[in-house]
Amino acid sequence: MAGCDMCGKERELVDAIVEGAVVQVCLDCSKHGSVVAINQPVVDKKIEFQKELESKPEYVDVIVEDFYKKIKGARERKSLNQEDLAQALAEKESVIHQLETGKLKPSFRLAKKLAVFLNIDLIESVESNKNIKKDVNLKSESVTIGDLLKK
Ligand SMILES: [Zn+2]
Repeated sequence: MAGCDMCGKERELVDAIVEGAVVQVCLDCSKHGSVVAINQPVVDKKIEFQKELESKPEYVDVIVEDFYKKIKGARERKSLNQEDLAQALAEKESVIHQLETGKLKPSFRLAKKLAVFLNIDLIESVESNKNIKKDVNLKSESVTIGDLLKK
């Protein structure tokens, strides 16, 4: 084993930067004020990894805000009335009416049916970074990085 570049002791060495130069120093010397250890302790790595994980955008599917406009517009482009659309989708006419007036937000199942039939996008992916952080915080303190990775 090579010796420490600073004190010369033959011990476990870590890569560090001292006054701009990359050196190998022992753990004692790596704690010296002017030494910047390149290999951070494992704990720090975990924290950085977790930060990276949290800042990575996550996406969730949601129904678009203007779904009612899109449904009505697409239906009219197809020259269908609400009854026609209801029959085509095997839904009640009242459901179509409520959808187009924005009183009823479609379920994902219905939104997909409408999207395919009318050839429109009713589902969009949005970033949910904040929500996910919140979820994690609400859970017990036993949440580990392993648990986060399973998601
Ligand atoms: Zn040393």
